Amino acid sequence: MSCDRVDVLIAGGGPTGLALANALGAFGHDVLVVEQDPGVAELPRAVSIDDEAMRFMQALGLLEATRGVVLPGTGTKYFGAAGQLLMYGRGPARARYGHPIKNPMDHSELQQVLLDGLRRFPNVEVRHLTRLVSLTQDGEGVTAQLDSADATWEVRAGYLVGADGGRSTVRTAIGQEPMSGSAFEERWLVLDTVNDTHDERFAMHYGDPQRPRVIVVGRGGRCRYEFLVHDHERPREDEVVSFAMDLVRPYRALDPTDIVRCTIYRFYALVADEFRRGRVFIAGDAAHMMPPFAGQGLNSGLRDAFNLGWKLDLALRGNAGDRLLDTYTEERRPHVSAMVRLSIRMGAVMMTRSSVRARARDCAFMVGQRLPGVQGFLREMRFKPPATYESGLFVGLGAESSGAAVGSMLVQPRVVDAGGRLVDLDDVLGGGFALIAVGDSPAALDELSAPLWQRLGARRVHLAVDDRLAARDTLRCVSVADADGLLGEQLADLRGRIVVVRPDRFAAGSFVPSDEAAFVSALEQRLGVPARSGSIAREAV
Ligand SMILES: Cc1cc2nc3c(=O)[nH]c(=O)nc-3n(C[C@H](O)[C@H](O)[C@H](O)COP(=O)(O)OP(=O)(O)OC[C@H]3O[C@@H](n4cnc5c(N)ncnc54)[C@H](O)[C@@H]3O)c2cc1C
Repeated sequence: MSCDRVDVLIAGGGPTGLALANALGAFGHDVLVVEQDPGVAELPRAVSIDDEAMRFMQALGLLEATRGVVLPGTGTKYFGAAGQLLMYGRGPARARYGHPIKNPMDHSELQQVLLDGLRRFPNVEVRHLTRLVSLTQDGEGVTAQLDSADATWEVRAGYLVGADGGRSTVRTAIGQEPMSGSAFEERWLVLDTVNDTHDERFAMHYGDPQRPRVIVVGRGGRCRYEFLVHDHERPREDEVVSFAMDLVRPYRALDPTDIVRCTIYRFYALVADEFRRGRVFIAGDAAHMMPPFAGQGLNSGLRDAFNLGWKLDLALRGNAGDRLLDTYTEERRPHVSAMVRLSIRMGAVMMTRSSVRARARDCAFMVGQRLPGVQGFLREMRFKPPATYESGLFVGLGAESSGAAVGSMLVQPRVVDAGGRLVDLDDVLGGGFALIAVGDSPAALDELSAPLWQRLGARRVHLAVDDRLAARDTLRCVSVADADGLLGEQLADLRGRIVVVRPDRFAAGSFVPSDEAAFVSALEQRLGVPARSGSIAREAV
């Protein structure tokens, strides 16, 4: 692969950039990732991924490798000022997306899984110790100046994605400074250790106003400690380790060799106004930053990558245009803003330094837990913004006839295929678009004739309803029955209709077979399909 002309240049080899490179690599595009550091992150950062992120890792074909680095299916206990249990967030009893809602892990190990995943793709190259310095763009592509130890060189790309973290050069280059939001005045000490003897299978958030703190138990004796640092505490760089050892003393004896990483952070709550300018995009921390109290920074970066990967693929193949690319900001910005608000709220409530507010919080939890519905709401962590978009690449969003699922991520149950095997739904749907016929028979799928389905490579899947056995596969479609009942519930109002599922598993719309032409026309409009076909970027660069 020539590194001077690529389909997509990704600046930043953190989790967001590497995840996107895996997605684009699987779609067959030429991708160059440049990363200024020599390898994976050395600072203590993300410590848990959620069910949506696990599903994305599954879509990237990296599920087994990811399972090897997470502690699956834990929860979080929140404690009040006097150490009393306020609530235990465990997530829903039935996994919605096929994976547990909370999975502690080590940031560097997850990043290594993503980096190793790229070895599968001869069309993807990662250059470490290489920095993106500047960029210019025109209607046909982007030209970026790169700097490495021994050379300065230029790359021409169809699209450029800045996944270059909180101090993003790409964000500045596309005029997205300053971001909207605020810097948190709080500083936190963050410490990763090994040889820990905690045996709790849950994270612990202590709302002690004297010293708010978090403990997240990981795999194989790993543990994360986070402590609020008071304003008067100003350890010098060479004093940070002994400061950390003092703070952690109530929990364990700590030998300095048990410390893997240790640093003091200041957190931010910021979101860029636009995530796209022309052929340049920003993703992950480059586009948004949040305090870690809801554990959603990396998860949000992975959501960006899951959202953007297939959109760039369609654009590169000439199957979509500006209209689709605009939906990246349209869909992701409101969702990630809701995550930022949740993180701020959780910090303000659980990590308050005011003893008055802490007492009020503890009383509110005691009373609230007794109210019908509140306990379930907290236990199932329904306060987390759902995987739902309010606008974007959707047809008939909000219209009753389209079904309530449109705009939302489909659940992922296990399904029984026509051969009687139990498999995950996504393994049946495949990596691209899918058409699901909900009903007694797969016949409706055979009738669909629009060339768009072929261009999108949409798989046809019949979902048998009423606990019937899956029908026999036909030449054009596979049949499955929902073994867990989740998808049947979500699509209950779509019986007799075809549901269009996007590669990121969101329901894009639904139609009755006789309305196929009108639906396709509306979908094509939203895709912004350019008049000519063929790969824009491949021709341009
Ligand atoms: C204490 C703490 C705890 C956290 N806990 C969680 C959690 O539990 N769950 C969660 O989801 N999130 C958590 N987060 C947030 C999470 O770590 C970040 O959101 C995530 O790392 C962002 O990933 P990214 O790839 O977008 O950016 P980064 O990880 O910052 O990666 C950006 C990369 O770009 C490189 N780069 C920068 N500029 C250039 C350039 N010009 N050219 C080339 N390369 C460049 C950098 O070297 C870096 O490797 C936590 C964060 C902190 C600090």
